[in-house]
Amino acid sequence: MASSTTAGHAISCKGKPLSFFPSSFDARLLEFIHLRFISIVFSLLIYDDGDDVFDAEAAAVAWEAGKPLVIEQVEVAPPKAMEVRIKIEYTSLCHTDVCFWEAKGQHPLFPRIFGHEAAGIVESVGEGVTDLQVGDRVLPVFTGECKECAHCKSEESNMCDLLRINTERGVMLSDGETRFSKDGTPIYHFLGTSTFSEYTVIHSGCVAKIDPSAPLDKVCILSCGISTGLGAMLNVAKPKRGSSVAVFGLGAVGLAAAEGARIAGASRIIGVDINPNRFEEAKKFGIDEFINPKDHDKPVQEVIVEMTDGGVDRSVECTGNISAMISAFECVHDGWGVAVLVGVPSKDAAFATKPINFLDERTLKGTFFGNYKPRSDLPAVVDMYMKKELELEKFITHRIPFSEINKTFDYMLSGESLRCIVCMDE
Ligand SMILES: [Zn+2]
Ligand SMILES: [Zn+2]
Repeated sequence: MASSTTAGHAISCKGKPLSFFPSSFDARLLEFIHLRFISIVFSLLIYDDGDDVFDAEAAAVAWEAGKPLVIEQVEVAPPKAMEVRIKIEYTSLCHTDVCFWEAKGQHPLFPRIFGHEAAGIVESVGEGVTDLQVGDRVLPVFTGECKECAHCKSEESNMCDLLRINTERGVMLSDGETRFSKDGTPIYHFLGTSTFSEYTVIHSGCVAKIDPSAPLDKVCILSCGISTGLGAMLNVAKPKRGSSVAVFGLGAVGLAAAEGARIAGASRIIGVDINPNRFEEAKKFGIDEFINPKDHDKPVQEVIVEMTDGGVDRSVECTGNISAMISAFECVHDGWGVAVLVGVPSKDAAFATKPINFLDERTLKGTFFGNYKPRSDLPAVVDMYMKKELELEKFITHRIPFSEINKTFDYMLSGESLRCIVCMDE
């Protein structure tokens, strides 16, 4: 430190204090340096080079379909080439977790660690990982971006050939093995993310590095559902300022689409849902006209066409119900209307509409993860939240400690929650 004199004491240029009665400013400075030192030592202790197998990390393991998760101490292997190990800070439940946990109609794969909406901190990196470092704050994503394939090189696609979502795979891409085990029994991964665990190993191409000052307990919900609905509206439907929009399905994804319509400056947002309990909550998202298809004896598209004098400018469908998908298309205005499908239908569903609906210049599109490329685009979505353009708080209806993770399934199945934040350290 250079020679200086401050109120309260003097410090000599030889480093010997002439007197040492720190002012309150210096006391704070010393305290800061002390805390900083502790935090660096702590960092050195917890951020290692990734060679260690963690053998006492808590994870919520699904041992059987539809049975409550069990918090277990599991071994988490170090990341291999192009992988990272992440300390999950916050996670939340998304509907896709529930579908595969129930395993109705899907190939059951157990024991498995679910979870794909989360935020965390990189704890160690495997060989060949150059764009992520220990300490980076990240969102794990269920689909990736290798930046090399034809899809990644296309401006129009986010459907990476290498790292595209794979719901069946329960192992890592590089070696076909799991990084989780308990007493030698492998535990399968889910969507390459498995965020219902204090530590998880993820392919580095499925990790978005974000603004380090972003609050992880809020932005964690951007790693799946909210970005899906938001991107469907902003990137695909692209409503113009002052336009009219219909949103089918008022769960978290549909409300995120409504949030996108609000951000785009839509003047009229119509919500469609068969559950009227959703309507009150939806008002917070700028939806102030509601249609319950059950209240009408004609198809909902006819109701919307009458209400809007010819149809809405844009519609986004977030239920996966095939008749809702057809209604969402047929309710848009001829000449310019665009409908976007987001919900995942049953395998055998077929879309039937008269070709004249297309010839009359209506457009039907589908989207996956809101057309966002996870690594390239998610940081900017986080920035939208940081700039207060995007409101995330209104999606968060519950908050629970990790030990109570099963409650989040109850909240979702009862329709009580939009998003419940699970705090890993509480
Ligand atoms: Zn999801
Ligand atoms: Zn790719």
